[in-house]
Amino acid sequence: LVSHENHLRTSTVHVRGVPIGPDSVTLIAGPCAVETPEQTLAAAEMARKAGAALLRGGAYKPRTSPYAFQGLGVDGLKILADVRTETGLPVVTEVVDPADVEVVAEYADMLQIGTRNMQNFALLQAVGAVGKPVLLKRGLTATYEEWLMAAEYIAQRGNLDIVLCERGVRSFESAIRNMLDVSAVPMVHQLSHLPILIDPSHAAGRRELVVPLSRAAIGVGADGLLIDVHPHPETAKCDGPQALHGADLDELETAVRTLPPAL
Ligand code: PEP
Repeated sequence: LVSHENHLRTSTVHVRGVPIGPDSVTLIAGPCAVETPEQTLAAAEMARKAGAALLRGGAYKPRTSPYAFQGLGVDGLKILADVRTETGLPVVTEVVDPADVEVVAEYADMLQIGTRNMQNFALLQAVGAVGKPVLLKRGLTATYEEWLMAAEYIAQRGNLDIVLCERGVRSFESAIRNMLDVSAVPMVHQLSHLPILIDPSHAAGRRELVVPLSRAAIGVGADGLLIDVHPHPETAKCDGPQALHGADLDELETAVRTLPPAL
């Protein structure tokens, strides 16, 4: 179902009317985690200033440490819905547990499956059945085939509104958080008709690499970008060092606006 066979070109997935596909570079931006209504609204305004068409933000956070901030849950979803009303930006947010899929789908416009859950097959089937577009991140060590098979689990439940997201893979290099695999974009475009985004924030883990990697993503033909922004990264409850702040937004906006959508 997700293979390139029988498709002349990459499909376009619509998220509340916003297209993600081959004709444009769609920017999705927002805070890594929803912390407060004020912080989420400020981050959404920053996202909009950078040219974002969709707002990202985690209400359920899959953290490596059980002692780290785990997200606000349903309260976070409500904040995202309020910020959508205020800014008009549709909402992309992660779901980590099959039991939460219905409630997340009630508030969100697109459901995100994070890297750690790429092969959580019960979760994939649950999001496949709920009828909302899905953003499927690549597992930390997943091959292209494993990733596309994970997408197939969603598609098999009748949902072909799937967007893939490369977010870096495990490597031997410790100066960066993960190794961004830019080959994923042309390879996925060869193998599948699904659109593919790049998340340079979670790949690099460092804000100074986010704009250069965004340019690389656009250069290899990514259909969009997923980027962390935060009004006060130094006090962020999650992944502050990778969040863009105000000063970086112009550079990002220029890259997205001026580079051609694909080579
Ligand atoms: C995220 O986008 O909030 C996130 C946790 O990303 P990943 O699953 O890629 O680590």
